[in-house]
Amino acid sequence: MKTEEIRENNVDSGSRKELLRQNGSERFTALRDSIDDYLSIKDSIRTGIEDEEEIEHQKKKILKSLNASQSEWDDYRWQLKNRFTGHTELARIIGLSKEETEDIERVGKKYRYAISPYYLSLVKPGDPACPVRLQSVPSMHELEDRGELDPMDEAGSTPVELVTRRYPDRLIIKVTNMCGMYCRFCQRRRLIGEFDTHASKEKILKAIDYVRRNREIRDVLITGGDAFILEDSQIEWILSELRSIKHVEIIRFGSRTPVTLPQRITRELVKVLKKYHPVYVNTHFNSPREITRESKRACEILADAGIPLGNQMVLLKGVNDNRHVVRKLNQALLAIRVKPYYIFHPKTVRGTSHFWVTVQEGLEIMESLRGRTSGLAIPTYIVNGSKGLGKTPLLPNYLLYIGKDRAVLRNWQGEIFEVEN
Ligand code: SF4
Repeated sequence: MKTEEIRENNVDSGSRKELLRQNGSERFTALRDSIDDYLSIKDSIRTGIEDEEEIEHQKKKILKSLNASQSEWDDYRWQLKNRFTGHTELARIIGLSKEETEDIERVGKKYRYAISPYYLSLVKPGDPACPVRLQSVPSMHELEDRGELDPMDEAGSTPVELVTRRYPDRLIIKVTNMCGMYCRFCQRRRLIGEFDTHASKEKILKAIDYVRRNREIRDVLITGGDAFILEDSQIEWILSELRSIKHVEIIRFGSRTPVTLPQRITRELVKVLKKYHPVYVNTHFNSPREITRESKRACEILADAGIPLGNQMVLLKGVNDNRHVVRKLNQALLAIRVKPYYIFHPKTVRGTSHFWVTVQEGLEIMESLRGRTSGLAIPTYIVNGSKGLGKTPLLPNYLLYIGKDRAVLRNWQGEIFEVEN
């Protein structure tokens, strides 16, 4: 196809050509106008810091109902011990109708739930569309019979117990099935049984031994469940074992505790982590409302210890399937020193179909970010291939033609240009 034809076929190119004819100051006005839609709405998309008063009110209500103090609240063990697991208590704190309460009771019989007092304080009372509530409180939609328990076939990518290996030079070790809160969309919900258990020392040693025997493994991700649910001493033991293996270059942790249980990020934990650098942490914010003073503090302690932080958002209907919500989230993450790393397309896990979105919707969100926010705020959009086929990145199409001696591309505004090939 000739460049001219491509130009004519591109719906935006006329308006962009017009823009290019404008003089300099008009150009800058036009640049600002290109994010006008976001600027007019961004203050209505609230972070937890912006809604601090409301969250503080809920926190006081929870503390009173548990007859607890601020120092207990600040203790992650207390938070874990007091996770909400009963429908009547939940109903009282977040204001549920009788019908909603009965639904939770029904779903809870099939899929376990547990919400840390901290994370529950972020739920907006009486709002069924609250993004924090959607992620944490059971819904009748979970009983819909669509999807599979293990669509990624993790079981089939397991060379030894606890290890998932899909790539040549890296692997995952799952050290616990426990989390601060059980996300309603979790891809590993099949592993979250009726009782919380950590993997035994013997099993972890066997997994580490697998790493030792396979010299091409240079990157180990410790996850679960949630890796930071382990005690500091257990984390230190795993780190020291891995660091005794020469070919392990980097160690990563996957943890949602900065989001669901920020009290877990203590100075003592960080002291352990920084002894074994390079250590990376990937966390998992899905909504601007999850960015609170407490989660900010947790991320800053980690960042101050030289630990690079990445965010792995899951694209979820009703929670963040909106371009402005994603932009606000990613920009707010950068402000607390977390780099948006991945946006995961939701996996077809049974009991989560109410969260699914289309690939087209995901691509539209990616299109809306490029050029309109810093490159740092633009993660990679990933669709995981079913049955362990691995991460597949997706981008809107910027390459319109590629031939022997030239390539034709479009920029974020739809302007078309050529490069020699
Ligand atoms: S924190 Fe991670 S592993 Fe735990 S329930 Fe949520 S998504 Fe699943």
